[in-house]
Amino acid sequence: MSAPDASQTKQQRERATTIFEKGAPGRRAFRAPDLDVPQVDGLIPEGMRRAQPPRLPEASEPELVRHYVNLSKRNFDLDSGFYPLGSCTMKHNPRLHERVAALPGHARLHPLQDPRRAQGALELMFNLQESLAEIAGLPHVSLQPSAGSHGELAGVLLTRAYHADRGEQRTTVLTPDSAHGTNPATVTMAGYEVVKVALDAAGGVDVDDLRAKADDSVACLMLTNPSTLGIFDPNIEEIASIVHGVGATLYYDGANLNAIMGYSRPGDMGFDIVHFNLHKTFTQPHGGGGPGAGPIAVSDRIEPYLPRPQVVRRPPGAQNGSNALHENGADGRLVGGPPIFDLDEDRGGRDSKSIGKLRGFQGNYGVFVRTYAYIRSLGGEGLQDVCEVAVLNANYLLARLREKVGDRLPLAFGERCMHEFVLSGAPMKKELGIRTLDLAKRLLDHGFHPPTVYFPLVVDEALLIEPTETETRETLDAFADAIAAIIAEAEADPEIARNAPYTTPVRRLDEAGAAKRPRVREVLPQ
Ligand SMILES: *Cc1c(COP(=O)(O)O)cnc(C)c1O
Repeated sequence: MSAPDASQTKQQRERATTIFEKGAPGRRAFRAPDLDVPQVDGLIPEGMRRAQPPRLPEASEPELVRHYVNLSKRNFDLDSGFYPLGSCTMKHNPRLHERVAALPGHARLHPLQDPRRAQGALELMFNLQESLAEIAGLPHVSLQPSAGSHGELAGVLLTRAYHADRGEQRTTVLTPDSAHGTNPATVTMAGYEVVKVALDAAGGVDVDDLRAKADDSVACLMLTNPSTLGIFDPNIEEIASIVHGVGATLYYDGANLNAIMGYSRPGDMGFDIVHFNLHKTFTQPHGGGGPGAGPIAVSDRIEPYLPRPQVVRRPPGAQNGSNALHENGADGRLVGGPPIFDLDEDRGGRDSKSIGKLRGFQGNYGVFVRTYAYIRSLGGEGLQDVCEVAVLNANYLLARLREKVGDRLPLAFGERCMHEFVLSGAPMKKELGIRTLDLAKRLLDHGFHPPTVYFPLVVDEALLIEPTETETRETLDAFADAIAAIIAEAEADPEIARNAPYTTPVRRLDEAGAAKRPRVREVLPQ
């Protein structure tokens, strides 16, 4: 890569104008036909009407298209380049799934549709529950939570309900030092106190520390395995027995499922509750690209507390009061005959132990469609392949980086990794004077999205790299070459990386300032 050019890129020169600054009064992208029904005034009560029409942009269709297409190009996205953001599993999103999710029967299905008229959708959701149960090794699934972190909250609330039902009041939740920030945040939101468990020399849970902290005040241990260090904890059975020994539950943060899917199951390891990040493991545009979903799977003893409604399959011929099941007659009317798939709002009726509803309606249905398409198009063996290649790609990239820059960016723990690995930029910072942040910013000039930086917190100057299974060997090689080039460049002149990036629409941003004092109104006409 040539020496950085201080002159601005075309994108940098063009100030991003807002849509309000474009167009002109009266300009339109669309003109509605004249009314062909009588006009009725006064339908909106006087008190609810605006005194002035809202100030909306007025622009032509080409202006609109260019405005939004150009804005979209100012961002880095998975469809334009490698995105090895550790822990986030930014794998390719197959286009087949978009086509299936866009079918009108899926995309236009109203969430209040009578279950009798939505049998296909409910069947898909039921089958997805069954598939996720199989993958987790736990028999009961709720699709309700909207994200991994929401699944965590559901799991901790289930834990609370479980203990309360047994007449127990527990006050703390254990998490290892390497935990994702959402784990302690969830614990605090759910009203528990976080107690940290130390890591051992290999990066796993320090079993002695766990044993010392596990007592009957502990409600739960939240863990991901492999951990956010990309290391599978070989002591998991012992960990499970310590946690169960004090009557606590074991919670599996499923964000790293890509590393074990089809090979080992959290349920078999002894976990009671698991969340899935469907958007990570099973493809769904995410990270500013769309909604996610965080279904949970649980063991028999947690099942009574699951949220409602639950998608169920009723035995043929079942009749259930107002839920009496019907099908479409030839004339489109509902006639007798049970609907097989249904929403069980009741879950045990008045004696229900359910924690209730976690959100409006049934969950992010479009994500379910994509996930189901992914699981069914790959099949069980395909899912194993995914996980094998994810681990292989990560180890290949690790080996390339070791060979090229191992002395400046050593692996933080262990010798090999699962689906991701953590390097430490501490030697690079000490010897070359550039930080992990500088390296990350300079990678943008090479056309790569930076890996996750400064997480996990237990590693100094951390760089968490997750290539995923959908990248080619050439891409992995090019990425390793780019990192080596940045290190070589810094040996000669560290200032270059310190001032990067040079080719992006904006340079270094005041991130803390942007979070604390966002300027969102200033650009709009007052
Ligand atoms: C992404 C992630 C979460 C949170 O999941 P969201 O779906 O983003 O809410 C939790 N734990 C780990 C380890 C993660 O990587």
